[in-house]
Order: sequence, then C-alpha cells, then structure tokens
Amino acid sequence: YTPRSTHFISNLIEADRQNGKWGGRVETRFPPEPNGYLHYGHAKSICLNFGIAEAFGGACHLRFDDTNPTKEEQEYVDAIIESVQWLGYDWGEHLYFASDYFDTMAACAESLIRAGKAYVDSLSAEDMRAYRGTLTEPGKDSPFRTRSIEENLDLFARMKAGEFPDGTHILRAKIDMASPNINLRDPAIYRIRHAHHHRTGDRWCVYPMYTFAHPIEDAIENITHSLCTLEFEDQRPFYDWLLEQLAEAGFFPRPLPRQIEFARLNLTYVVLSKRKLVQLVTEGHVDGWDDPRMPTLVGARRRGFTPEGFRLFAERAGVSKSDGWIDMSVLEECMREHLNDSAERRVAVLDPLRLIITNYPEGQSEQCFAPNHPLKPELGSREMPLSRELWIEREDFMETPVKGFRRLFPGNKVRLRYGYVVECTGCEKDAEGNVIAVTCEYFPDSKSGTPGADTYKVKGNLHWVSVAHACQAEVRLYDRLFAHPQPGQRREGDAPEFERDFLDDINPDAKRCLVAQLEPALAQVAPESRYQFERHGYFVADRVDSRPGAPVFNRTVTLKDSWQK
Ligand code: ATP
Ligand code: MG
Ligand code: MG
Repeated sequence: YTPRSTHFISNLIEADRQNGKWGGRVETRFPPEPNGYLHYGHAKSICLNFGIAEAFGGACHLRFDDTNPTKEEQEYVDAIIESVQWLGYDWGEHLYFASDYFDTMAACAESLIRAGKAYVDSLSAEDMRAYRGTLTEPGKDSPFRTRSIEENLDLFARMKAGEFPDGTHILRAKIDMASPNINLRDPAIYRIRHAHHHRTGDRWCVYPMYTFAHPIEDAIENITHSLCTLEFEDQRPFYDWLLEQLAEAGFFPRPLPRQIEFARLNLTYVVLSKRKLVQLVTEGHVDGWDDPRMPTLVGARRRGFTPEGFRLFAERAGVSKSDGWIDMSVLEECMREHLNDSAERRVAVLDPLRLIITNYPEGQSEQCFAPNHPLKPELGSREMPLSRELWIEREDFMETPVKGFRRLFPGNKVRLRYGYVVECTGCEKDAEGNVIAVTCEYFPDSKSGTPGADTYKVKGNLHWVSVAHACQAEVRLYDRLFAHPQPGQRREGDAPEFERDFLDDINPDAKRCLVAQLEPALAQVAPESRYQFERHGYFVADRVDSRPGAPVFNRTVTLKDSWQK
C-alpha cells in the first residue's frame, strides 16, 4: 500500500509537509467506538490511516472513542485490538482511550463557559428542536442563552456533581442560532447521563458529545491529519471553531489538527451498518460475530481472507471524495490474487465417488509426487499415495456422457493427476440404480514423471484421493451472505405494498456443510493454514473448530468468480 502515490489525501498531506506545517510531522489516528466488531469498512479506514503514517514515516494512533457510556464494552476493545494487529498494523506506544481525557474535556468546557462561549440550556429536548430552526429558517435564541457566566459555571458544576436527572440541562456552545450551517446553531457539548462507563465506572454523570470530544482528542494527541468519513464534512466548521477557542485559551498549540473527509466504503452483497450486523447476530441469522459469512474482520479471518488481501483491496478501492459502490467481486479477487500466490496446493474430493482400478493389485500402494505450488518449485512437492480404490468427484463420471464431456465414461481415457492414465470400463449400481462405484484399468507405463508418460494424450485430468489413506473431514462451503447487491433495496417486481427488508435478501445457500475426503497431507494441518484445493478454490483450516488430526475446512473463495447474478 503506497498512499503517497496518487489520492487526494496523500497529496494534501504532501503539500502540508512541503510547507513545513507541523515541522513536516504526520500523525493520524484510527478512532473506533468500542460498541461492536470491526467490519470491512473499518479495514479501509485502518489501511488508510496506518498506511499514510507508514508512507510518510509518521505514527498512527489506535484510539478508543469511548465517550458514550451506554454502548461500550471491554469485549469490543479486545476484539478491535486483535483485528488491527491481525491486519498487520502497529500503533507502537500510541494506544489511547478518549475516556482518559474526560478531565481535560470538562476543563475545556469550563473554559468556554468562562469565555462566554458556552451556556447551560434548560429547554426540553422538544423545545430545543423547535428553536433550532430548519435548513431554510434560522433558529431562535433559547431564553437561557443569556445566563451569566457565574450561573453557567454553577449549573455545570452541579450537573457534574449529579444534582440533576438525565435530560434536564445541557451544555451548549454559544455560536450563532442563525448560522446557515445547522451544526453551528449552538451545538450541545455536554449532557447529563447517569450511566456506568466501562472504564471510568461511576465517576462521571456528564459525558461529552462526540462532536465536542473528537476535536479535543485529536488535539491532545497532536494529530496532524484527522481523516474521517464524508458525513462529518458539515461538522468541520465546528471542529475548527472549537479548537480555535481552545488554542486561544492556551489548551493546545498551533498548528491545530486538520480534518479531511473521504467517502466511506460501500460494498455490494453485504451490510456494513453496526445496527444491522447486531441484528444478524442477535436474531441468529448467522453463527455469531465471527461467522465466516459476516463482513466483520473476525469473520473475514475465519473465512480465510488475508490481511494482504485487505491491503490490496484498500489500494484498489481507492480514496475518493464522493460516495460510490465497490463490487464484492473486487474484494474477492484481491483475496484470490494473494492466495494464488501464497497458498500451497492440495487435493480434496468434496463429493466422493469410488473409483476401482481393477487391474491394480489389492493391498498394494505407491507414492505419486505432487508439486506444492505450480509457480514456485522452491516450495517442493509432497507424496500422495495411490492404491486400487480412489475417491473421485461424482461429477467426473457420466455413464452416458453429454456432448463435450471429457472426463470418465465407459471407453474414455483420462489422467489421474500426478498418477496414471486410466480407461473407464463401467460402473456399479445399487438396487435403486444409483452409481456407487466406477471401474477402470490403468496403464502401468503411463505414470506422470516417468519416461514415455507423455505419449498418452488424454483430454481429462482428474484429482483423486486414495480411499485407504484419505482423511475424512468436514468442509464448509461459504458464499455471499446476501443474494442481492444492495440488500433491502426496493426493486422491480416488488409488490407496491411489500416493504423489502435487508433480511429478505439473505442468501439461503451461503453456507453448506459437506463431508469430504482429503489427501493425507491435510490431516495434521494447524488451524488457519490456507490452501488451494485443486479445481475447487481456496480453503482455510477453521481457527475455532479445526484440530490437527481432525481438520475442518472453510471455503474462502472459489477459483474463479462464479457468482450467478
Ligand atoms: P457505525 O455508524 O456503523 O456505528 P461508525 O463509523 O460509527 O460505524 P466507528 O467505530 O466510529 O464506527 O468507526 C471508526 C472509524 O472507522 C471512523 O473513523 C469511521 O469513519 C471509519 N469507518 C466506519 N465505517 C466505515 C466505512 N464503511 N468506510 C470507511 N471508513 C469507515
Ligand atoms: Mg458508531
Ligand atoms: Mg462513529
């Protein structure tokens, strides 16, 4: 990831550096609220912030924006730390909690009151909304706007001391109720909230509003460039106004942090809103936050997606100033590219049918040699035992072949990959007429890698596993969680009274479990080992359920984009 190369944010930062602003220093931050698990969208923000710090020789902070006491939990803090580390980023000593700044934030608020730039309002929430005005009409001053500095200081102190119930008073910045930007019409900065905080306990019963807290967090940490998503663009004037006041009051040195907005990631075939992700989990539509179908980073990890794939994706998705959609196939292709390069090859038969080589001696076996990676001979090869009975894919046999079928049918020859050429002689059936075994004869002088083997010209090339040596294992085939690119969006053919919900678009086939036959080399793999199963796709040993000796594999992605639109 080389953000220095092209996009508008790196250009702005480069310009700031050339002008010597902040002495050329670059410091960014990734500020998650610990109220849920990170998702693919966060990965974009993480790659952007940490990537910029890396490219400019700066630092990126991991800051927990834990100013809202009611929704935050330690469980999420731990999971977020693990996911950022998993993506391969290092914040060094820069791990921060916004709740550690509550004292400074309260002091900032008091300083604004002293400067006549904040007041305690006691309007009801409903009246406050009415006084705010609209996009086309200016707001009106609250009758409490003219309270004296002494009265405001006293009321704020009593708010902090817990004298008032939730919602009775609120501290507001005093800016301009007629501003065309509604965010500057005396925004709320501190509210009363009698709630237990996961880190500060019951020490506080007033909590800062996000728009007040965030600029202060950035300034305390000496952030140079505060990158955020587009919906905060209209907040930038308040961000700048607030830090100006606090710089004047001596809280922070100049130059102050600079907010820059970018378009959030919108990805097809998933949902990236925390509310919807919570719903998927709590209503049991998936098997938890780390279900491989979930667009969370813990889910991605279990699915077998790779940090390198995410970095490639962040680079390809780019950084833009206007909202757009990225197709899921772009993310899948990034994973495929990294896995094609990095994953060793193995053989697995997912829908096993018995193949009997009738002229191969019973009780005997021999080794075949399979390269671990076709493009990387340095990765060597492994032994694959071959014997009289093999597992092949059910779809590789047709008693009566359709036109163009090149695999096994009576009278046809195929190569058993890394092994012999065989000629199909027939099949065995059960009482209902189902094929239960295919029979063939092999040509002893046709073994791959032996002299003369290539005089056999055959069109089919099948993978197989020796029945006597196979490792039977659970394989889970995952696919896209939603069957529609924009889940929940109304579309042609919907009845007028039908209100489409994102849950209506869940893909019922996004998880299928099979019992597969694996080559013996897969029996002992460590959890999270990733492989290409030849002809099938990329798979990972499940990090939760897989054990050496009893592997469980998840399909990460197919070999080619096979999504049926
Ligand atoms: P939600 O609104 O679903 O709760 P959020 O944006 O509030 O998500 P945070 O934990 O506050 O979640 O996000 C941390 C950082 O990640 C923020 O800086 C935010 O801008 C960024 N981020 C969140 N979602 C996306 C996305 N889809 N694309 C890019 N960046 C994102
Ligand atoms: Mg949020
Ligand atoms: Mg947020």
